[in-house]
Amino acid sequence: MESHVADVATASDWSVEEASYLYQMSAWSDGYFSILPNGHAAVEAQDDTVAAIDIRAVVDDLRAQGITAPLLLRFPDILYGRVKQLNEAFLATIDELAYPSSYTTVYPIKVNQLHQVVEEVLEAGKSYNLGLECGSKAELVAALGHLESDSRLLICNGYKDATMLRLILEAQALDKQVIPVVEELGEFEELLRLGKELDVPVRLGARVNLTTAGVGKWAASCGDASKFGIEISELLYMLDHLEPEGKAGRFELLHFHLGSQISDIHALKRAVREISRVYVQLRQRGVEVRYLDVGGGLGVNYEGNFPGAEQAINYTIQEYANAIVGVVQEVCDQAGVAPPWLLSESGRALTAHHAVLVVEALSAQQHSGVDASWTLSADDHRVVEDLESTLRWVEDLATTDRNGVPPLMQLVEAFHDAHEKREEANQLFSMGYLPLEQRALATQLYWTILRTIDGLVRSVDPTELPSDLAELDDKLKERYLCGFSVFQSILDHWAIDQLFPVVPLQRLDEQPTRRAELVDLTCDSDGKISTYVAPEGRQAHLDVHELTPDDHYYFGIFLTGAYQDIMGDVHNLFGRLPEVHVYADDEEPEGYYVEKIIPGNTVEEMLASVQYFTRDLQRRMKAIIREKVDEGKLRPKDGVELLDRYRRAFEKSTYVNRTDP
Ligand SMILES: *Cc1c(COP(=O)(O)O)cnc(C)c1O
Repeated sequence: MESHVADVATASDWSVEEASYLYQMSAWSDGYFSILPNGHAAVEAQDDTVAAIDIRAVVDDLRAQGITAPLLLRFPDILYGRVKQLNEAFLATIDELAYPSSYTTVYPIKVNQLHQVVEEVLEAGKSYNLGLECGSKAELVAALGHLESDSRLLICNGYKDATMLRLILEAQALDKQVIPVVEELGEFEELLRLGKELDVPVRLGARVNLTTAGVGKWAASCGDASKFGIEISELLYMLDHLEPEGKAGRFELLHFHLGSQISDIHALKRAVREISRVYVQLRQRGVEVRYLDVGGGLGVNYEGNFPGAEQAINYTIQEYANAIVGVVQEVCDQAGVAPPWLLSESGRALTAHHAVLVVEALSAQQHSGVDASWTLSADDHRVVEDLESTLRWVEDLATTDRNGVPPLMQLVEAFHDAHEKREEANQLFSMGYLPLEQRALATQLYWTILRTIDGLVRSVDPTELPSDLAELDDKLKERYLCGFSVFQSILDHWAIDQLFPVVPLQRLDEQPTRRAELVDLTCDSDGKISTYVAPEGRQAHLDVHELTPDDHYYFGIFLTGAYQDIMGDVHNLFGRLPEVHVYADDEEPEGYYVEKIIPGNTVEEMLASVQYFTRDLQRRMKAIIREKVDEGKLRPKDGVELLDRYRRAFEKSTYVNRTDP
């Protein structure tokens, strides 16, 4: 990859196409993001009548209104696009195979429960009669309020207590399409008991624990070790208790869930085949199963599909739809049984793309070296002298013309020398033989030597470099301090090594010359982005531009719309970010309009969440100040101003704000 960048460097014709390749936009953007000729990252238009949205321009606009990074941009147009893409894919295959039944998406709200997001998904899915899925009491309560239409499905997964089951049955009595999915037998017994009590026949389904094992990170969602779902023998027990009475209830839905991010379409097909067999046999026993619910797991490509890319998805949405409809149809046809109404609980695939986290680079830090004008002085220590001679040697190598071929073996030797001498300097220091200034000088010389070597080998294909030199990329990367918290905004990057594509929002028409690691504001060494999408795989640094004092430099962290919004953690009391909903619109001069701005958490809110109360803290601060005023340490007027500043801090954002007066 380095070699690619360097080749282009010599050609000096950097273009936005090069940037698009470098950041692998086509691998993960699914057509939703692009780069404009002005070098800004953009949201692609969802139909031909509107132009792409310049993300950097939106951020500048918001800054002018006092809304500063970090912030979360939501693009509802993308949610619409995803809902449509998924539903049209199923409709197309249903049409093509003349599948005699139908398909409905039920959106699992745990993926992103934010009210605005759920409402936008529902709105986008209106013409497809999109339904909802919930997995807890709070989610059930939220979802029940959104069943305006009697035909909107609500599938209730997860463990359910009597409060939940009662609400579900009462909704059924109102003709709402609410179906509890039994996770364990106790729930079934409770459901029948409540049904009798309320004198209504229950409608229910069950999550069946298939023998097909899950795949990927969430493999334990299915198979023998799964904590969810009932066994086939338990399913038969349930049916026995429903069948003789008939009026006790109807078994309407078969469900399985292989786990999120199904990477391999073959695993999905095996599971669909197995559940289809169960379906067919139940129908043959006279059980009128209506729905077959294939759960979630439709994957999102966060990186390219390279050999070794752990999280790559080997299929498209269309192939996913084809696989499900095709397999169910085949099994049903063989048995001569009418095929079921298909449901999928696709969450990640609907919401991941719509949110872009915007963070600002606040500073760049790198190991300091010696100035070009630095020279050895007579009283420098021998170890410094040795490092100096290594540096001069490397500088000589740099100026000798070898037809562009760097002397790799000599450079490795110089690298080893520098390394050894630095170690020696550290040991001498520990034993008390080297003064602090000399140790600092030794370290600076070490970094200057490494940078000089790096300058010579950057144009070499990394696969042809000796391993010590190939590591220079990572050794020499700078730390770009960014105003955000990994734990609040991209928790999965820390928790499960989820990769999120990161792209500068500007200057993409300019070749990036720096290598950086993005670090966050938390006091935690894990608070950083440690892997990045790159051509031919992943790398431990991002290619970035040099920061300039006269302009802001923003990064977009993409595909953060699934799970991250809700799993965020308040490490160091960094709170929720301001959220902004941006719609494309050609009637507007800038080609977009901002509909909703939801403010982020204030210091006061974050403190209250851990039981520090404003009045108490301010009273305490006042007492401290008064004591100092009484002691004569502080003038009364300064004391008043200090207290005032302390009070104002409660209303501030929890993040660093450089524009604050
Ligand atoms: C988490 C979950 C989903 C959503 O999975 P995605 O991979 O986001 O599509 C669907 N159904 C159940 C039962 C789940 O637990």
